[in-house]
Amino acid sequence: MTAATEIAFENTFVRDLEGLYLPWEAAPAPDPQAVLVNDALAADLGLDPVELRTPAGLGLLTGTAPPESATTVAQAYAGHQFGNYSPRLGDGRALLVGELVGADGTRRDLHLKGSGRTPFARGGDGKAPLGPMLREYVISEAMHALGVPTTRSLAVVTTGEPVLREQGPEPGAVLARIAASHLRVGTFQLTAALGKPELLRRLADYAIARHYPELADEENPYLALYRAVIAAQARLVAQWMRLGFVHGVMNTDNVTISGETIDYGPCAFLDAHDPATVYSSIDEGGRYAYGNQPGVAQWNLARFGEALLPLFDDDSDTAIGLATEALQGFADAYLAARDEGYLAKIGVGTPELLEDLYRLLDEQKPDHTLFFRRLSDAARGDTGPVRSLVTDPTALDAWLGSWRAAGPDADAMDRVNPIYIPRNHLVDEALRAAVRGDLEPVQWLLQVLSHPYDEREGYERFAEPAGPDVPRFVTFCGT
Ligand code: AMP
Ligand code: MG
Repeated sequence: MTAATEIAFENTFVRDLEGLYLPWEAAPAPDPQAVLVNDALAADLGLDPVELRTPAGLGLLTGTAPPESATTVAQAYAGHQFGNYSPRLGDGRALLVGELVGADGTRRDLHLKGSGRTPFARGGDGKAPLGPMLREYVISEAMHALGVPTTRSLAVVTTGEPVLREQGPEPGAVLARIAASHLRVGTFQLTAALGKPELLRRLADYAIARHYPELADEENPYLALYRAVIAAQARLVAQWMRLGFVHGVMNTDNVTISGETIDYGPCAFLDAHDPATVYSSIDEGGRYAYGNQPGVAQWNLARFGEALLPLFDDDSDTAIGLATEALQGFADAYLAARDEGYLAKIGVGTPELLEDLYRLLDEQKPDHTLFFRRLSDAARGDTGPVRSLVTDPTALDAWLGSWRAAGPDADAMDRVNPIYIPRNHLVDEALRAAVRGDLEPVQWLLQVLSHPYDEREGYERFAEPAGPDVPRFVTFCGT
């Protein structure tokens, strides 16, 4: 176990990619208090979870007393936000502390969100309220337990300073996040726009070395990188869709090169399976609705291809041809991953059943999570529970008949269909209590969500959707 002050951070991003960050320091935290520390993740990283709660540990987790080996920087990037290009985004309220390298060679970023204003803050205050930081912690850890590639949450620490938002003052907090890296499509967009071909090549080489080292020897490694990111994002979005996850802000600066889910803001999980579902209050046009996510991912990857064009070929027509052909692979990769995921969900190997299943889900809008869990009851002989979840059970019967004839494996289904997801009303209730100082509900929730596939007695309320008296869930942009 390494003490916070003795962590040997590496700083390859800073060393190799000058021009893509600004050295910066965290704002003071007058009274840091640990709210959540992820003991298991700390241990995985070789960090002492007890020490993380001491003043030295809190100095690391708030960025106010980083170890000698760290070089704290605000990363620069650009990005399309809701379709509009912003040439200069960057970490407005976040810092990269450095890279932790595991015994197996895995390199992971430690990054702090809520650590104060940086030169990229534009109009923002550089702060983060406790509720939204706990929300990222809970949902990212739930996603990890569900088996989805994601950034992880190491800790949430309150700073001792209040943060003002529309809803009123809230305790200020810093989230310590762990990620395979923070390279985004927006990092490439910025670099391409700077008009420095050498830096763009260096960034692409860095991304290959860090995430896809096997591609370095390819004939056209940059095209291979593009294809690999397309494949990783196709798989990622297929995972979101299988679980009913709505990211909420699929801007190009929130699309990772590693293929991890990043930046949990106005995200939420579906109750009813409705492709038009939007939770974010700022997404008025429904651009990032549940059912639009695969298409948006493809659009974002087109922007990535544009940024990479000069690396594909010296001749721009040839480069465009190569990029277009690669991007066409997205649809097939996504559909294959989606179908594979849904075949596992229904516990059979009969793709002919899928088209009718997708139509039934879109038309009948059952609770997305419970539908598949109750389908395993049907596989065991009891169709009552799943029929009770749809508006027109007789329309479901024909499909159930063909599906049962295909011999579904109920136990295999239960291993891929979660019973516990971060239901909006439960997350909301737990975060409200936490902001009032009562951490018990959020700790319970984290514990339940850490084993999403194992149904346990006494946990029924964590499996149920919100009752009819709970207002439609909306997430606000004031994070
Ligand atoms: P997000 O949508 O959370 O990924 O953030 C988009 C951009 O806004 C990023 O550049 C963030 O750093 C920046 N940002 C968000 N909230 C704040 C804040 N309170 N202060 C400064 N910058 C912020
Ligand atoms: Mg972001």
